[in-house]
Amino acid sequence: MGLLEDVVVNAKSAVNVVGKTAGKIVDISKLRISAGELNSEISKRYESLGRMVYDAQKTDNDATDLIKECVAAIDDLYEQLDAVNEQISAMRNRTICKGCGAENPQSANYCSKCGKKLEEPAPEEPEVYDAVPVQEQEPQPEAETEEPKDE
Ligand SMILES: [Zn+2]
Repeated sequence: MGLLEDVVVNAKSAVNVVGKTAGKIVDISKLRISAGELNSEISKRYESLGRMVYDAQKTDNDATDLIKECVAAIDDLYEQLDAVNEQISAMRNRTICKGCGAENPQSANYCSKCGKKLEEPAPEEPEVYDAVPVQEQEPQPEAETEEPKDE
């Protein structure tokens, strides 16, 4: 049973960490990283949940409470993901002043706080996930196995 409890404890601390960072994030690339982390955390949670159910079945243990906690942790992560995604879409419609860091509506030409001319935000920057310590389990792309056909 120790293993199952570990999984739940880890779930809780992970949620706390993400919650803390989400509160003070102001820049969109960090938000994107956050969303990516939340997504991978959710995947991990699902995996743990499956393992719990499996172990419980195997060992004839009642894991109902642990499963409930894990489900609650997943719900919590989804809520955070929603919040992060909302922030991302809100920020897409804003221009951050490079002079003072104030948020201005995208339509504004000058900062409402310091009066500095606002630069057009770069349109749709590509998703750059640098410095993300998440091991992605990307499926290996299937090798091209096109065999030359003899006519
Ligand atoms: Zn400003």
